Amino acid sequence: MRKPYLKSYPDKEGFFGEFGGSYIPEELIKPFEEIKKAYEEIKSTPKFIEELKHVRKHYQGRPTPISFARNLSNFCGGAKIYLKREDLNHTGAHKLNHCMAEVILAKHLGKKKVIAETGAGQHGVALATAAAYFNLECEIHMGEVDIKKEYPNVVRMKILGAKVIPATHGLKTLKEAVDSAFEAYLKDTDNSIYCIGSVVGPHPFPMMIRDFQSIISIEAKEQFFELECKLPDNIVACVGGGSNAIGIFSSFIDEETVNLYGVEPMGKGEKIGEHSASLTYGEEGIMHGFNSIMLKDEKGEPAAVHSVASGIDYPSVGPEHAFLKTQNRTKVGLCTDKEAVDAFYKLSQMEGIIPALESAHAVAYAMKLAKTLPKDKTILVNLSGRGDKDIDYVIQNYPL
Ligand SMILES: *Cc1c(COP(=O)(O)O)cnc(C)c1O
Repeated sequence: MRKPYLKSYPDKEGFFGEFGGSYIPEELIKPFEEIKKAYEEIKSTPKFIEELKHVRKHYQGRPTPISFARNLSNFCGGAKIYLKREDLNHTGAHKLNHCMAEVILAKHLGKKKVIAETGAGQHGVALATAAAYFNLECEIHMGEVDIKKEYPNVVRMKILGAKVIPATHGLKTLKEAVDSAFEAYLKDTDNSIYCIGSVVGPHPFPMMIRDFQSIISIEAKEQFFELECKLPDNIVACVGGGSNAIGIFSSFIDEETVNLYGVEPMGKGEKIGEHSASLTYGEEGIMHGFNSIMLKDEKGEPAAVHSVASGIDYPSVGPEHAFLKTQNRTKVGLCTDKEAVDAFYKLSQMEGIIPALESAHAVAYAMKLAKTLPKDKTILVNLSGRGDKDIDYVIQNYPL
């Protein structure tokens, strides 16, 4: 029998084919080695598994349901659209799936503090929540520009007891926040641990975050069977770094009848700087400590990117997505800013669910796909988060 996919990848060095690995400064090798060892030690212990299960059930709100989007499906007139409701997690998105587990790992290692960067503030809020629950200190690094832009999330982090540290150099956005967080971590590796917010970064993070997010598809497989007595024909998820997408893909990768679509933001157009469709327009390259497919500017540096959804405007993508795409196991779907906003309104008005703008990309693509398929086919969309955070922006920039 063939070895199941999830047990085959990544290899010992963290490679999915040629993608992944660990490209980090000398000083970081030991601390990351420590994280990897700790994870290997605890991941199959009953204590870790039970603690994670407990917190997911009694605090976070799992299992999240699958809802049939009847009105939206009728409107599209083709395949049936189902939604995996990650928007119903505490804090409103899938991010707590990995943040809770990362903080349990930190506790196991005897650490007092968790450190991370955040772009739009979503990962920062989720990590601050997990740290509050487990009574650890939390330090979030954020670009000064993002602090101004995403002020409500800054306030949330502070109320939750986290320290928000502004990154004041360079362009003062996500990349600088990563630099600043790594620097702080390096100064205090004994007491603290770095918590990455997606399936990106050096080994073991792409593997670890995938494992933590795989709960989405473990639940979904059973729930979908209960509803339709079969596997879904298609699965659709938006891809920024790729954590919610790999979460809903993972249990289906070995099921060859299931088509897997990762949806990338086409933003405002095809030119560099107008979109963040890394898998579609990118080339192989190393950034933030891992090898993947990334968008480069003329100097070969990470390119400027854009999306109406600030959680998916990242110039690279998790290495496992690069691998699955080059293996032709997954397909890439595209969605513009305009299509995402249209889906945001459609889902709100037809189903009573306001989606995050990130998730609206997956909904928009599912709507396009549904129209091309017969009525007996099914599409399962990962609704990664709720849209409360986006309502002010949408109503101001795309009025009803
Ligand atoms: C952060 C975020 C994303 C993007 O991150 P992935 O790692 O690509 O999943 C998508 N949706 C929501 C709601 C988010 O908060």
